Amino acid sequence: MSQQTFQTEVSQLLHLIIHSLYSQKEIFLRELISNSSDALDKLKYLTLTQDEFKPLKFEPKINLYFEEGDNPILTIKDTGIGMGKKDLKDNLGTIARSGTKNFLSKMSGDAKKDSNLIGQFGVGFYSCFMVASKVEVISKKAGQKQGHRWVSDGKSGYEIFTDKTEEVGTTIILHLNDEGKEFASRWKIQSTVKKYSDHIDFPIFLSYEETEYDDEGKEKGKTSKTDQVNDATAFWKRPKNELKEKDYNEFYKTLSYDGDDPLDWIHSTAEGILEFTILFYIPKKAPSDIYRADYQPGVKLYVNRVFITDDDKELLPTWLRFVRGVIDSSDLPLNVSREILQQNRIMAKIRSNSVKKVLDKIKSISKNKEKYEGFYNEFGRLIKEGVYQDFEHKEALTDLLRFKSTKEDGYVSLQDYVDRMDSDQKSIYYITGTNESALRESPLLEMYRDKGIEVLVLDDEIDEIIMPSIPTYKEKDLKSVNRSGAADELKKESDKDKEKEVKPLIKKIKSVLGDNIKDVRASNRLSNSPSCIVADENDPTAQMQEILKATGQTGMPEVKPILEINPDHEIVKKLIPMRKGKSFDDIVLLLYEQALLQGGVKLDNPAGFVKRLNKLMEKAL
Ligand code: ADP
Repeated sequence: MSQQTFQTEVSQLLHLIIHSLYSQKEIFLRELISNSSDALDKLKYLTLTQDEFKPLKFEPKINLYFEEGDNPILTIKDTGIGMGKKDLKDNLGTIARSGTKNFLSKMSGDAKKDSNLIGQFGVGFYSCFMVASKVEVISKKAGQKQGHRWVSDGKSGYEIFTDKTEEVGTTIILHLNDEGKEFASRWKIQSTVKKYSDHIDFPIFLSYEETEYDDEGKEKGKTSKTDQVNDATAFWKRPKNELKEKDYNEFYKTLSYDGDDPLDWIHSTAEGILEFTILFYIPKKAPSDIYRADYQPGVKLYVNRVFITDDDKELLPTWLRFVRGVIDSSDLPLNVSREILQQNRIMAKIRSNSVKKVLDKIKSISKNKEKYEGFYNEFGRLIKEGVYQDFEHKEALTDLLRFKSTKEDGYVSLQDYVDRMDSDQKSIYYITGTNESALRESPLLEMYRDKGIEVLVLDDEIDEIIMPSIPTYKEKDLKSVNRSGAADELKKESDKDKEKEVKPLIKKIKSVLGDNIKDVRASNRLSNSPSCIVADENDPTAQMQEILKATGQTGMPEVKPILEINPDHEIVKKLIPMRKGKSFDDIVLLLYEQALLQGGVKLDNPAGFVKRLNKLMEKAL
């Protein structure tokens, strides 16, 4: 048969593939195996559904052979549906899909060709010309008598001959070029198949020669061997009712390299307009790189059981980076690139559905207090991160938050708090800092304790960053007791008189403390302590400033705290009639310094503090 020319678009496509994808040339094997797997799927379907194909002896498999040497060869052979003469011409000489055509016409006119865009369509069969200078396709279609041989150098065109082949299926012989000769190797083929095609449903066999040696280590001869190189089970595609906990645990370990069983898993298949399967695991322990910017994402993307990527941080929102598992979709193109994934509508739907499924699962875990505590200790910070970053799921995530509390041991939720708060209580109160026991002893809690009001104890550094993003919950304001305004609601009528009483004292205190403080106020939140410091409504708290300092943040404007004094306290009462002078100043400074210390703030001048304290002790003794 005479030489046939490729459709113009095929030549363009070949050119693009060879020049844009060479850095990932190994994907050719994935593409060819995927085609074989499709061809096997098609014939399987026919033998199951069409009477004329039922008698056919169908042994689904893919065989790989190679020859090393000067003319290296790699052969991929399948027992799938095969191609007739017309199929060879239509499938391997033209481009059927209109999307690809449009894409190509856009690309060919464009000066700056974006190699990433090539991922918009499956590169398919033609990718083998990256590694081969000549390709032969020998094929016989199921139900036809005559086989054919298609031959091309991937440049201008191809030829089709009749062929004597007896077997139904397709054999692709790649005459490897310099770029491809490394694929004439058992290990290279094996690792590439493992990487991309391990879960192809059909067995993939690799034949090779093994050299035998005698007792003295001399070469005795060679034997031919054939091994199956893929696992051949897409675990996640197996029906749920066939799978036991043990099976899920085992698969988790192969997937995650975690020696422990997972905490839980989600296995779900969506059918209908969008078809995809997810199998997600929640580990018991957080992966060690979870708080590093260069963490390895734990979810692998497959398209029809063909591995696409395990290195895409966009498959799930970042706060879900502890999830390990698989997304397998039949609606995405095989060679979908990262850029395309990010814009892809199908992927967006899969992603949003996946997040919902994980959230549902976490919610159901949260019904088991002990189990959820285990989860929260490992991943609570990521839930907080989600509250902060993921606006779409903020509400669901807020419900999943847990806090320590002054009311009970262990964790409580905002819902628990709201359920048991007094009907006339307006706000949900919390205190932030980094040391749980210091927080529980804080003077800021005195009045709340006296009144039996629950306060949430937030001792994780990031709480202070996260909490302002939850201004209200179930129509109740969330208020930090570290701030000046929180105690306003606790104010009584009688407090006003007391404020008047200490007014002159406050003036004197201000003149002593000067620039150290933003303001001095009469407190209505203290009962046992004489003083405390709080932050002004929109200022970072003193605790927050300590954290920022510790993380090496510099150049922030210094924000001064507000000093509150307790008008009912003996020390304060005795200060009222005192005249200004050395002793007065010392006591005022001590009231300020002890408030700082209790608020977890390091003193600028500890020596001065000790000196003042010692002077007072001397006097008292
Ligand atoms: P895609 O697989 O994305 O459709 P390809 O370029 O890889 O694009 O293949 C084009 C077509 O050639 C396939 O759709 C299929 O019909 C046919 N084909 C390729 N390889 C085989 C094979 N091994 N057996 C049967 N048909 C094949």
